[in-house]
Amino acid sequence: MTPRRFDTLVLGAGAAGLFCAGRLAQAGQQVAVIDQARKPAEKVRISGGGRCNFTNRFSTHANFLSANPKFCISALKRFTPADFIALVEAAGIAYHEKSPALGSGDERALGQLFCDGSALEIIAMLLEPLRQAGSEIALSSPIEDVAALPEGGFAVTASGQVYQAARLVVATGGKSIPKMGASSIGYQIGAQFGHSLIEPRPGLVPFTLQGALLDDCKALAGVAVNVEAKVGKTRFEEGLLFTHRGVSGPVVLQLSSYWREGQAVSVNFLPGQPPVFEAWRALKHSQGKRRALDIVCETLPKALALWLLGEPLAAKNLADIPDKALGQLEERLQRFSLLPSGTEGYRTAEVTLGGLDTRQVSSQSFESLLHPGLYFIGEVLDVTGHLGGHNFQWAWASAAAAADAIAQQGPS
Ligand SMILES: Cc1cc2nc3c(=O)[nH]c(=O)nc-3n(C[C@H](O)[C@H](O)[C@H](O)COP(=O)(O)OP(=O)(O)OC[C@H]3O[C@@H](n4cnc5c(N)ncnc54)[C@H](O)[C@@H]3O)c2cc1C
Repeated sequence: MTPRRFDTLVLGAGAAGLFCAGRLAQAGQQVAVIDQARKPAEKVRISGGGRCNFTNRFSTHANFLSANPKFCISALKRFTPADFIALVEAAGIAYHEKSPALGSGDERALGQLFCDGSALEIIAMLLEPLRQAGSEIALSSPIEDVAALPEGGFAVTASGQVYQAARLVVATGGKSIPKMGASSIGYQIGAQFGHSLIEPRPGLVPFTLQGALLDDCKALAGVAVNVEAKVGKTRFEEGLLFTHRGVSGPVVLQLSSYWREGQAVSVNFLPGQPPVFEAWRALKHSQGKRRALDIVCETLPKALALWLLGEPLAAKNLADIPDKALGQLEERLQRFSLLPSGTEGYRTAEVTLGGLDTRQVSSQSFESLLHPGLYFIGEVLDVTGHLGGHNFQWAWASAAAAADAIAQQGPS
């Protein structure tokens, strides 16, 4: 079959791949985007509950995990949340900032921006420059082979078609949600050209539990509360949700990126409140006739309060609770030790931690330092954001850096 020639090939029609290809098309390049999924940007479509949390106003390098934490600084500074917001506004997409959870007592602005309507509007915006330029988007095309050509440039075979170009941008993401097209092809292409891999693992993913704790969580499934939770020295204050498999919610997803097998998570169900032991001991004198359950129910739903207190204590008046029991209560209410048996894995993980080692990639152009003309952008790299729009901001920023560097070189 005769190869089809382009200036640049982009592997992956996800957030990073489409944004990069669109900028290249606007710069006058002949681009082809290749993806095995039937539709482009499937993760954008399902993101943010269908409304796409497309950026975070406060995104900085401090919101990212990587073995090489400074790598992301330059790209994030050169293409900022304000730059993406300007594109969203120019496309006429209405958006809003998520408000803090009701009753959380937390009035901090979250900076998380969502479409008022649908994530499909962001996809349409990403596709528009490609449509205008008449660029090729080859869908349902799993990548079969990638080869460096002896005369320079690359040949990619997908669905029996051979594509050739001087430059190859790998934007095939991580391993999360395989049923949406995710695969480890990006890591394989990296390895083929000598790149090292930082061990991938699921991130922003619910915890699973076992035994009696799981039975208790099942009974509480659907209950959501604002908590402060920590693993090691990392702490987040956000919502926790009990599920039929264990626990989820923003606080769990955030912590999961820092959690390692065997580590316990410490949960404070009364964030911002003084330690229970001292506070309740003082209350014994002034409000000794109040029931323990009524006090905890001022903050927590009854089913959860009952579970944390235990039936005998819940019914007791404050004055009748011995100091020793108050100490144990403080432990349960403010330092509850939760030992996950694992995570739900790549099936539901929003991101993949780890990825191609950024020490072998230019932080300016995202070109491989091992093979000229080869670029890696987005989640395939070992850069992973916190929950809240940071991962898309990384997709846009890394894509913009690569596209601008390639465009500066002109058509091949
Ligand atoms: C449920 C969910 C909700 C999310 N919500 C948010 C959110 O609201 N805000 C946020 O910032 N982040 C969110 N994320 C994370 C965000 O979607 C990703 O970080 C982002 O999509 C990564 O962009 P990417 O272009 O690098 O990779 P992807 O978007 O994963 O794109 C990679 C593309 O490569 C293609 N591909 C893979 N293997 C092959 C192959 N062998 N052959 C051909 N093509 C291949 C895939 O089909 C895919 O289209 C969410 C993720 C999930 C799963």
